[in-house]
Amino acid sequence: MNQSYLHKKNSRSFFILIIILLFTLLLTAIVALANENKVTVLASTLNIRYGPGLSHEILTQVQEEDRLNVLGEENEWYKVRLDSNQIGWVASWLVENEEVSLDNHLFGRVTSPEVNVRQFSTIDSAVLGTVKQDEEFPILYREDDWVQILFNQRVAWLHSDLIDVIDQPAETEELTGSTDSLRISVGGTPANIRLKPTTDAEILTTLRTAEEFEVLTEENEWYQIELANGTKGFVAGWITETITTESVSAKEVSLTTEPSHYATTLAEATIVIDPGHGGYDPGAVAANSFAEKEITLDTALLLADLLKKAGANVILTRSSDDYISLNDRVYYAHRANADAFISLHYDSVEKANTMSGTTTYYYSENEKALAETVNHYLAKDVNLDNNGVRHGNYFVLSQNSQPSILLELGYLNNDHDITVVNTHAYQTTVADAVYQALDEYFSPR
Ligand SMILES: [Zn+2]
Repeated sequence: MNQSYLHKKNSRSFFILIIILLFTLLLTAIVALANENKVTVLASTLNIRYGPGLSHEILTQVQEEDRLNVLGEENEWYKVRLDSNQIGWVASWLVENEEVSLDNHLFGRVTSPEVNVRQFSTIDSAVLGTVKQDEEFPILYREDDWVQILFNQRVAWLHSDLIDVIDQPAETEELTGSTDSLRISVGGTPANIRLKPTTDAEILTTLRTAEEFEVLTEENEWYQIELANGTKGFVAGWITETITTESVSAKEVSLTTEPSHYATTLAEATIVIDPGHGGYDPGAVAANSFAEKEITLDTALLLADLLKKAGANVILTRSSDDYISLNDRVYYAHRANADAFISLHYDSVEKANTMSGTTTYYYSENEKALAETVNHYLAKDVNLDNNGVRHGNYFVLSQNSQPSILLELGYLNNDHDITVVNTHAYQTTVADAVYQALDEYFSPR
């Protein structure tokens, strides 16, 4: 054994040691990163959806206080990993954020000819499929000798001995946008296959029994598929079911055709509450001198409180005595893409004491259900006459593209009404009735 051989051997061991050290450091960093990005569920029940938005179908649900690992963020939605290892999306306003910051651009490149992708981070767990040499995947999470990746739209695990970890600039578009391996089931409920991705396009055929298809492209929540005869057509994403290799706890997907609104729990809904009048505009003024603008705000704040406690995303068009133009009030609903806009008013008529009680107004036919639900609870619980549901051509309704209603909650030139409406008891009852109505309206049908 000569000197130079010894020297060579030593330097090689040293080199290997450095590599091992660096690799260990890197992995520790990934684990730390993954552990830090956690959020806590605030709503009593929270829907985890397949994509970042209420239009995506529900994957599963989690409960209050559950903690979720955040993997990414898009349009105020967090991409999360569940304990069940499923991946989904939650509305960021329904979870408590503990300093989420993601800058994880680590990729794994497969280094063996064919590598099993497993359901869990154990050798004996189910094989979900295989990946080939040189395929690359964003690394979502790291646990002991395993790395977690997204595989066929669900999370899966690869043994870290079979991949190289590489750092790569963000190309995260592919992370979920990729549909190349997405398979869907179509026809479980009759599904029209159309020439173009819109509901008014020509129908090529109607599928009435469930068939599986590979998704060719995705466009505005429509999937392009190829039919048995070779023709290609589009099917609306919301009437299809995503096929996971094993349909773990993915709930039966709701197969309603065209939902009138997307939020399926109050906790997911964005609700704009609009206290009428304000600032130099007092609205109606009661004989004993309280103004409509004061009690609309009081009532609105009580309602907002109830809705927030239920986890809803609540936006008030005003929360103090300010003048807000009607245009701005409508704009708030547009900007927030509100699931409901509730305008609160108290009434007056030309001739005192000729009218009494509450009235619920809507403008468009598709807002009638919301109006009727709210009015049902008002009629049931509120101790004033109920004048029912009516069509009303109010600016905040007619100019509003979001589902909107306007409540007149009593007459300020009715001697009886004014003894009732300016009380905490009355306003609490109104707020509770509207809250219960919205809870029912936004429940899964
Ligand atoms: Zn008014």
